[in-house]
Amino acid sequence: MNAPMSRRSFFRICATGLGTSSVVGLGFSPQLALAEVRTFKLAQTTETRGTCPYCSVSCGVIMYTTGDKSKNIKSRIMHVEGDPDHPVNRGTLCPKGAALLDMVHSPNRLQYPVVREPGGNEWKRITWDDALTRVATHMKIDRDANFVETNDKGVTVNRWNTTGFLISSAISNEPGYLAVKMARALGMVALDTQARV
Ligand code: SF4
Repeated sequence: MNAPMSRRSFFRICATGLGTSSVVGLGFSPQLALAEVRTFKLAQTTETRGTCPYCSVSCGVIMYTTGDKSKNIKSRIMHVEGDPDHPVNRGTLCPKGAALLDMVHSPNRLQYPVVREPGGNEWKRITWDDALTRVATHMKIDRDANFVETNDKGVTVNRWNTTGFLISSAISNEPGYLAVKMARALGMVALDTQARV
């Protein structure tokens, strides 16, 4: 035999029934809401493949940018994840790489060339064209002044010892190969890459 219902249980059941029927009466069905499929957060984004810039492993990443490059859409990288097709990491990222989005949107991130003139104490923004011209000019002046064609024994060495070249780890094999070829062709001896660090 069932136990008699207490006064408290009676009121609780009545309130629950009243609440449910009111919600349904307003046109809201909990069953429908539960069955709703959440929108895939990467839908409507553009994929760009890249290389994690942090260390020598050089894991492949995919960056997802809002919008489809239409003119009225403001692009913003909103998600970064490991590239499952990349032979190095097969989609995995270490905690540093997994937090790449923070670096992308960091207010301290350098996004354009700046220069501090000799004797100056301020960094001044310059264009990429200016930056490349300045680098090329400095390289030429230094190379012309210090290039060594032969050593003490008269052996041809074609060395340029007074300028070094630091190559990025954020580039893939092909640009890395070209950068080394370019520096060696100029006679540069001191080469290093951040990927080694
Ligand atoms: S994800 Fe981690 S291991 Fe891979 S390159 Fe970036 S820092 Fe290195």
